[in-house]
Amino acid sequence: MEKLMKYSEAVKRFDPVLGLEVHVELGTNTKMFDQSPNTFGGDPNTNIMPASIGLPGALPTINKTAIEWAIRLGLALNCEISEVSRFARKHYFYPDLAKAYQISQADVAIAHNGWVDVELDDGEIFRVEIERAHVEEDAGKNTHIGSEDGRIHGAQYSLVDFNRSSVPLIEIVTRPIKGAGARAPEVAAKYVQALRDIARALGVSEARMERGNLRADVNVSLRESPDAPLGIRTETKNVNSFRGIEKAVRFEISRQAQILADGGTVVQQTRHFRAEDGTTSAGREKSDAEDYRYIPDPDLGPIHASPEWVEEVRASLPELPAVRRRRLREEWGYSDLEMRDVVNAGAMDLIEQTVAAGATAAAARKWWMGELSRQARETEVELEELAVTPAQVAQLQALVDEGKINDKIARQVLEGVMAGEGGPAEVVDARGLAVVSDDGPLIEAVEAAMADNPDVVEKIRGGKMAAIGALMGPIMKATRGQADAKRVRELILERI
Ligand code: ADP
Ligand code: MG
Repeated sequence: MEKLMKYSEAVKRFDPVLGLEVHVELGTNTKMFDQSPNTFGGDPNTNIMPASIGLPGALPTINKTAIEWAIRLGLALNCEISEVSRFARKHYFYPDLAKAYQISQADVAIAHNGWVDVELDDGEIFRVEIERAHVEEDAGKNTHIGSEDGRIHGAQYSLVDFNRSSVPLIEIVTRPIKGAGARAPEVAAKYVQALRDIARALGVSEARMERGNLRADVNVSLRESPDAPLGIRTETKNVNSFRGIEKAVRFEISRQAQILADGGTVVQQTRHFRAEDGTTSAGREKSDAEDYRYIPDPDLGPIHASPEWVEEVRASLPELPAVRRRRLREEWGYSDLEMRDVVNAGAMDLIEQTVAAGATAAAARKWWMGELSRQARETEVELEELAVTPAQVAQLQALVDEGKINDKIARQVLEGVMAGEGGPAEVVDARGLAVVSDDGPLIEAVEAAMADNPDVVEKIRGGKMAAIGALMGPIMKATRGQADAKRVRELILERI
């Protein structure tokens, strides 16, 4: 195990700099350069056509939707869109890239010079500058059999599945991210989260890290101070969770700090992230000027993005996540902290739909952030996976507001809804849960409770109104929690 400097000490002694290269797989119907279906999974090597694996004589054609979506994404990232950009061949050997080159963009990317404002946990906004976003194709997938960790080292043989080959990808590259200091891990993870939210809002990608729709290469370097030149970086490849990004940055900061403090130099290399323990390990050494021998792809003409087209795309952009969040927070009257909790819990859309179904923002938040969050935690599912719809939550609250049920009974109703017994009103009827304000059974319970507790009754007679509370317990018990508390109070006072 490598020596690590304690994180808090590392960020005191050194200034971390980040660079993120994020790949977003576009969810177009077909692939980047041919008509083969762009679907996740499927039997190996079934979603392919000659161009996706570069069979001799197969000619690629450009997927116009993918280009339009690249422009959408570029605009949402506040980039300038190149009027003319090109595809180039980037040569390298990987068994999952049958052509032995990847079609990518070299000198001119379709989008460049943008920024994203990232909201951190405490509400602070950190601006990340974007150098470029370019279009390229994905490679296939290798599966190494027989090695301990699933990597190629020690494997007996490898299988190649080209289904992912030539799926459209947008690679978004940041400028060096400076000034994050001790919060570098958080900035990195929140930035990628912001990209995910934007991609989803635009509808260009499912952007699910666990499926590899969204992948991040994380560059980290350290320098002595904020005015020193940039240090030597490492590039941790293909980190596939937000927690992983945070951990990879943290680990590299501690690891590099120890090397530098010991008088050593950081080796410029790619690194692998191990999700099990949050460490990184050495990959291949990589220089800044790797010779991929980019050449313009002779099979593909230039991409023209006329200013008119770009403006048309801009006009069609939906409301972006940060703007929407701000608008909803104001409409709902939540505090910054409340809104952040809602967003982090993945409850924003659900609350929006609950409000649309007639609940107040306060009631919607009460249910989704309270009882329903608890249920989700207990059953280890996402809020949106719970077996209750926003409309049902709104109906449930309406029953409470009408005085048909109280908050406590509402929980039982919810339980019934989630057990598949029907909507809230049906569950109330079927389970006989409506509040009892019918005097018959109430009077019986009130009189019994008063008879059983003469001392309490004395206190109330003496003017101690708070003592009424002591009678509520037995009355609620007798009516299975369904007594209308207001009516009970009236009945007690009438008898005193
Ligand atoms: P590569 O071809 O090695 O992947 P890229 O230019 O595509 O290089 O991406 C490198 C990423 O690392 C960019 O986000 C860049 O801003 C960032 N970067 C460059 N130099 C440093 C450095 N010294 N420390 C941290 N990040 C860096
Ligand atoms: Mg790169």
